[in-house]
Amino acid sequence: MNLENYIRDINDFPKPGILFKDITPLLNNPIATAFCLEKLLELVGEQKIDKVVGIESRGFFFATLLAQKLQAGFVPIRKPGKLPYQTIKKSYALEYGSDHIEMHLDAIKKGDKILLHDDVLATGGTAKAACELIEDLGGIIVQCNFLMQLNFLNGKEKIAGYDVKSVLNY
Ligand code: AMP
Repeated sequence: MNLENYIRDINDFPKPGILFKDITPLLNNPIATAFCLEKLLELVGEQKIDKVVGIESRGFFFATLLAQKLQAGFVPIRKPGKLPYQTIKKSYALEYGSDHIEMHLDAIKKGDKILLHDDVLATGGTAKAACELIEDLGGIIVQCNFLMQLNFLNGKEKIAGYDVKSVLNY
């Protein structure tokens, strides 16, 4: 199965000059979704994972599926003001703008082995901020795991030193 057939390119979304990688055709197809999940799990291999951290919002889809398969907990990283309990925050630069992200203070325990997941690694700003949040709480990042990397944006360099893996590369 060629997963690229289930990723739709949308020109100039959400801003002019951005080629948006739309994963909704993939999510719309249960066979492609199951295949993609298997590929993401292959990237992790036999490594022990305590928590899968997913980045809002498109990271949530596969992060929860991965957590179930890995018998790990799921932790959401969210945009500002969405999480109801006490949070820690980090600001970051996006391919299109800047923002900050939050995580619940009690979501990760010191020494937890963490799989970080998102749909797209673009400039790497979001993933770097997510790694900082995880490490601030004492988590150990086992892998930064993505559906796809946009190689021309060099996101991997921003999170150098981590095991960065993706199913697709553009
Ligand atoms: P970045 O911080 O630049 O690596 O951006 C990563 C985040 O923005 C991810 O959560 C992606 O969902 C989203 N994102 C950035 N660029 C794109 C793109 N071209 N297509 C789809 N999502 C993107």
